[in-house]
Amino acid sequence: ASEKQTMGFQAEVEQLLQLMIHSLYSNKEIFLRELISNASDAADKLRFEAINNAELYENDGELRIRVTFDKAAHTITISDNGIGMSRDEAIQHLGTIAKSGTKEFFSKLSGDQQKDAALIGQFGVGFYSAFIVADRITVETRRAGLPAAEGVRWESGGEGDFSVETIDKPSRGTDIVLHLREGEDEFLSSWRLKSIVRKYSDHISLPIQMHKEEWDEEKKETVIRDEFETVNQASALWSRSKSDITPEQYEEFYKHVAHDYEAPLAYTHNRVEGRSEYTQLLYVPARAPFDLWDRNKRGGIKLYVKRVFIMDDAEQLMPVYLRFVKGVIDSADLPLNVSREILQESRDVKAIREGSTKRVLGLLEELANSDDQAQKDKYATFWTEFGQVLKEGIGEDAANKERIAKLLRFASTQNDSDAQTVSFDDYIGRMKEGQDKIYYVTADSYVAAKNSPHLEIFRKKGVEVLLLTDRVDEWMLSFLHEVEGKELVSVAKGDLDLGKLEDEAEKKQHEETEAEYKDLVEKMKASLADKAKDVRVTFRLTDSPACLVADEHELSGNLVRMLKAAGQ
Ligand code: ADP
Ligand code: MG
Repeated sequence: ASEKQTMGFQAEVEQLLQLMIHSLYSNKEIFLRELISNASDAADKLRFEAINNAELYENDGELRIRVTFDKAAHTITISDNGIGMSRDEAIQHLGTIAKSGTKEFFSKLSGDQQKDAALIGQFGVGFYSAFIVADRITVETRRAGLPAAEGVRWESGGEGDFSVETIDKPSRGTDIVLHLREGEDEFLSSWRLKSIVRKYSDHISLPIQMHKEEWDEEKKETVIRDEFETVNQASALWSRSKSDITPEQYEEFYKHVAHDYEAPLAYTHNRVEGRSEYTQLLYVPARAPFDLWDRNKRGGIKLYVKRVFIMDDAEQLMPVYLRFVKGVIDSADLPLNVSREILQESRDVKAIREGSTKRVLGLLEELANSDDQAQKDKYATFWTEFGQVLKEGIGEDAANKERIAKLLRFASTQNDSDAQTVSFDDYIGRMKEGQDKIYYVTADSYVAAKNSPHLEIFRKKGVEVLLLTDRVDEWMLSFLHEVEGKELVSVAKGDLDLGKLEDEAEKKQHEETEAEYKDLVEKMKASLADKAKDVRVTFRLTDSPACLVADEHELSGNLVRMLKAAGQ
């Protein structure tokens, strides 16, 4: 063995450890799920690397996870024969938070335990959760393919530093030994550990094994046999038939793939047969991740080919505007050695993406159109969390534009609230006799939209106007000109034509008024020559004396302000 080296944790790791211990203590049994999840990932990685290098199996191709415990020593050990870690990898992966967005993560911490716990989940800092129950963790690991002499022992008390030394480790993979804190002996029980494994990790496709226990007639007690049994179902959840999967199992699987501590909002699970064959299990989370707005962030879909894990975040499998969707797609057609480059070109992938997009939109429609209040509430939650992202689909996905438009929700003059609840269908259903257009106003805020002077004539006539205040709205509207044959019209643009909403008497009166004020208008035009393009008598106002309007074919005031803010 080489000399022992002691190193400090990255500052953020230390902070995270403290936070984790405090905010997750009430749910401490999840440490086992996190460590099993890592062991399962390690097996996936080994299988993937072994596609091109079968020697990595070192004649031991039966991948499994083992959970054992030692009552006398107060330890629990989680062992896997997966990919393992080299010395550098152990330092890197267990001593720092390697993922990008660390800073952003810390800036989002609110001090609210529940919210912070959900953030921790999104951030995927699973390994450290073991310090909730352990005051010392020893990791012994050897990376597949490296000689036995290049094993590593990593050890830490979870306070500031960790040590690493090189050891002999004949068996490939990772053993994680948890030295339990005082008072955590409840976990030193076969029954307890098995029930935690079944509760959280049943969906793991690898066998999770524990020692067999048997009643000994002579000793009159249960004794632990020197023989393992498999505790979980050990088949990939998505490959099982729907009727064999409980809602709880779907939920646990979601938490595993999405690194989320909260239950998902909805999911869809299908086997698609025909020209291209694949299974999809897709989830809509209940809460937006902190990096939702990072359009460069890769998606949340894990790609498998015939049960073999290929890659995380396969962004080609889902359009960018559905980047919040998490889950698994398992293809029967793609080659095992598929790369990101191949994915980009593949026709099978295109078919999968189109099919998955339709499934997700279908899932959202089910929630949105349900008569069941609980489902409707879920859609409202979805809209609050992800509505603005879905709007990107109007510009991005021409093929599904109509479907997406029906899923949009807006604030409106119909309600006295900024809640976005009105759909185009609701609006159309309330249109006035003679109204053939959908009217909207865009503004920076709900208050500004609601108090826009452009709305006066509509209020007077009892015509509803949609109030659009999200940043993406203007951009979205440049792709959306009509819905169900009804033109979308800004109340702030051009010569507002109210069509049949205006009766003959009103028209005549307007013409007379215009003639009456002709001279005044000419004078105003002359004096405002360099400030306004035109001056008109207007009938759209009832209380305000005057308002600014944009030309029909010009950028609206709000978009101009937005572009200026963006430095254009
Ligand atoms: P995540 O699983 O989200 O990456 P974790 O904190 O759970 O975060 O694990 C950190 C990293 O440590 C993993 O990404 C992996 O590289 C490494 N690791 C943890 N456990 C194992 C293991 N059993 N075998 C190999 N590598 C592991
Ligand atoms: Mg993990």
